[in-house]
Amino acid sequence: MNLNRLTIKQAQEKLANGEITSVDLTKACLARIKEVDDKIKACLTVCADEALAEAKEADKRRKKLGAEAISLPLLGIPYLAKDNILTRGVRTTAASKILENYIAPFDATVIKKLRDAGAVLLGKTNLDEFAHGASTENSAFGSTHNPWDLERVPGGSSGGSAAAVAANICLFALGTDTGGSIRCPSSFCGVTGLKPTYGRSSRFGLLAMTSSTDVPGPITKTVEDASIVLKIIAGHDKHDATTPEVEVPEYSEEFRKNIKGLKLGMVLEYFDQVTDKNFKEVLLKAVDKLKELGAEIVPVKLPYAKYGIPVYYIITPSEVSSNLARFDGIRYGLSSDQVKSITEVYTKSRGEGFGSEAKRRIMLGTYVLSAGYYDAYYLKAQKVRTKIKEELDFELEKVDAIITPTQPTVAFKIGEKNSDPLQMYLEDIFVTGPSLAGLPAISVPCGFSEGLPVGFQLIGKRFNEGMLLRIGHNYQEATEWHNQKPSI
Ligand code: GLN
Repeated sequence: MNLNRLTIKQAQEKLANGEITSVDLTKACLARIKEVDDKIKACLTVCADEALAEAKEADKRRKKLGAEAISLPLLGIPYLAKDNILTRGVRTTAASKILENYIAPFDATVIKKLRDAGAVLLGKTNLDEFAHGASTENSAFGSTHNPWDLERVPGGSSGGSAAAVAANICLFALGTDTGGSIRCPSSFCGVTGLKPTYGRSSRFGLLAMTSSTDVPGPITKTVEDASIVLKIIAGHDKHDATTPEVEVPEYSEEFRKNIKGLKLGMVLEYFDQVTDKNFKEVLLKAVDKLKELGAEIVPVKLPYAKYGIPVYYIITPSEVSSNLARFDGIRYGLSSDQVKSITEVYTKSRGEGFGSEAKRRIMLGTYVLSAGYYDAYYLKAQKVRTKIKEELDFELEKVDAIITPTQPTVAFKIGEKNSDPLQMYLEDIFVTGPSLAGLPAISVPCGFSEGLPVGFQLIGKRFNEGMLLRIGHNYQEATEWHNQKPSI
């Protein structure tokens, strides 16, 4: 059996009954990376020796713990982390030339929690530079390819993580989601992606993009696996003041419940905006399935949602322009040696180090934050953001979750949209709202159109990821879409 194909849940059982070891699992994943990753290019760094050492350690710890190992569900489980999450001793590049050789002196909180839980870090995955994008084409180190069709993008910005999970390179991966970056690639690659509530999982040690919406979360083979990872990475962190002391529930208890009588809000306009007939049919069938399982579908209107993209693309560049100011050629990363003055240290290092999307966002952000435009753009955008949040919170009072498509299309061809940033930004049409509002959302695979995966999105109440996991898990218990794998 190919151990790399296992879900976390399946691997847990085999590890617990001594059928396999973490070293076996880790070797299987490393072999799979060798087998397919020159075609997919999901990984930017593979730390094989460190991973094997961690796996050995995990096996020793399991022996020592005996039956108590059951309290560590990720002990010995190999995973990959998006390369904008700091990992002590292992290169973190943000897929940018400016950080090409950067090695962080500490772990991000989510990595530390996984390390403490005994998970095995296999390496780091490709992304759009600094997570700016929806296709992973904005990486300074080349595109990742979608395992379902190598000529297509895996989505972004956590494209490397989603492609790796789809291709069974690892048992799970971490992504970050600022405006769709976990959900979009999960939908394009046919895997499960959970964006937790803003503040549910710590941002400490992420390379900041849009600090008011960034959130790390799991990309997994099943909803059940997402709940296992979330339980470990979630919770208050003294290093991140935006993580409140809200209890992290036992999600496995949620799973025992069915979805009979739950109310699911359906945004009809969103479904109408999907122009491809097949694609839409796949989504409507998923809604029917949820109905069959007992959910009641309630039409929901979100009139402010249409401002989601313009608002997001004012607020995000504003925060990006500020967050990227720290890359000055002095403190971190690339420093140009062709300089004659201190000003040139800044301008040349940044000019050589940043790619074009990062520069576009720095310029846009600096413009909308400048004295003459601040009120007209930034302040206005923040006001509309509040409306978007209020509207979602209001509708979520009436229903248990809201269902929408995750993306308006299937994965597009590499090169198809990257010369037109506006086209690319429009891919985020259904995902920016929950990000601006800080709400949890999950993408669940629900079928295929033109042979490519389709996903639906569930949006939930603040800190109620449990409801999304419950609905998603019930759906996966009744369907087989999440078990379909690319033939690569
Ligand atoms: N497509 C969004 C953007 O380019 C997604 C970013 C993200 O979630 N990191 O901003």
